[in-house]
Amino acid sequence: MNAMSQLKPMMKKVSLCSALLLAALASSPSVLAAESDQPIAIAIHGGAGTILRGNLSAEKEAAIKSALISAVQAGHEVLKNGGASLDAVTAAINVLEDSPHFNAAKGAVLNEDGEVELDASLMRGSDRNAGAVAGVHGVRNPINLARAVMEHSPHVLLAGKGAETFARQHDIAFEDSAYFKTPFRTEQWQRLKKERAAQAAVGQDIQTPLAGPDAYPDRWFSTVGAVALDQHGHVAAGTSTGGTALKRWGRIGDSPIVGAGTYAQDGYCAVSATGHGEYFIRAAVTYDICARVRYEEVDIGAAAEQVVMKELVTMGGDGGVIALGADGQIAMPFNTAGMYRAAIHPDGSMEVGIYRKGE
Ligand code: ASP
Repeated sequence: MNAMSQLKPMMKKVSLCSALLLAALASSPSVLAAESDQPIAIAIHGGAGTILRGNLSAEKEAAIKSALISAVQAGHEVLKNGGASLDAVTAAINVLEDSPHFNAAKGAVLNEDGEVELDASLMRGSDRNAGAVAGVHGVRNPINLARAVMEHSPHVLLAGKGAETFARQHDIAFEDSAYFKTPFRTEQWQRLKKERAAQAAVGQDIQTPLAGPDAYPDRWFSTVGAVALDQHGHVAAGTSTGGTALKRWGRIGDSPIVGAGTYAQDGYCAVSATGHGEYFIRAAVTYDICARVRYEEVDIGAAAEQVVMKELVTMGGDGGVIALGADGQIAMPFNTAGMYRAAIHPDGSMEVGIYRKGE
C-alpha cells in the first residue's frame, strides 16, 4: 500500500468529520447565535428602601456604586464571552454577596437571635428549572447553593439544616458567623432590639420592618439580585438576601420563592425583586410581571411599572424590581425613595443609580 492509498481513508474520515461538524453547527442555535447579533443585557439590584441622599455618606455612596459596577461588569463579561445567562447571574450575585454593603451573605441583617439567616433562589428561562434555599446559616454564597439544588437535586426549595447538609455534600463553601456580621449590622441589631423591648414594655409588638419607613430610617431592604440575557437568547434571574432585620419564628420572605422574588422564562422575561417580602409573596410579583408580558402582550417596562407602581402600592408593599425582556429591554421601577441598581444595555451603555431619577 503506497502512502496515498493509506491517506485516502483518513481524508475521507476528516471530510466526513467536518461535514458532521458543519451539520451540527447548522442545527445548533446556540453556536450560531453566538456569532449573530443576538443582544446581550444584564441588570442587577442591591435592594430598595428609604435610601435618601442625606442618609448616605459620600464614601459609602462611592463604595456602593463601585460594588454595583464590579457586579454588573462581572456578569457582562460572562455574556460577552458567549457564556450562559445563568452563569452571568451567578457571577454578578457572587460579587454582591461578597460585598459587606448589601443585605446578602456578608453584611446581611441579623435575625432576632443575632444570627445571619440566608435565603436565595435562581431560575433558568430556557426550561424554567429553578433552585432555592431558605433559612440557611454559614453558607458563603447562598446563590451557589440554590444553583446546586437546581442542578444536583430533584427538588426546587431546600430549607434550614437539610439545605446545609446538602451543601456540605456538594462542596459548597461555608464561613463562620463572624465572616457575615459587619459592625453596621451589629449596631443596627442592638438598636432594633432596644426599640422592640421598649415597645413590648408598653404592650406593643413591633413587626420589624413592618413599622414603616418613618419609624426606621435605615429601612433599606438591600437584598441583591440579577437578571441576564445571553447570546443564545436565554434569560435567567436570581436573588439573594438575609431577609428582614430582627426576623423571628423562621420567617421567610419572597426572595427564595419562585414567582414572588425571582422568575425567568425565555421569550418573555427575567425578573428579580427587592422589598417588603410579605407583599411580594401575596402579589406573586415576578410571575405577575412575566404573565402580563406573556398574556397581555405588553412590553416588560409597562408590565413592571403596572405591578410595582400600582398593584403593590395599592396593597401597601414597598420595593422594586429589575426586569428584562426577551429583546434586552431593561426596566428598574421602584416605589421607595431609592433602589441600588445597575445595568448594561444591549448597546453596551452602562446605567448606575441609587436615588429616583433627577434626585
Ligand atoms: N425581599 C426581602 C425579604 O422580604 C427583603 C429585601 O428585599 O431586602 O426577605
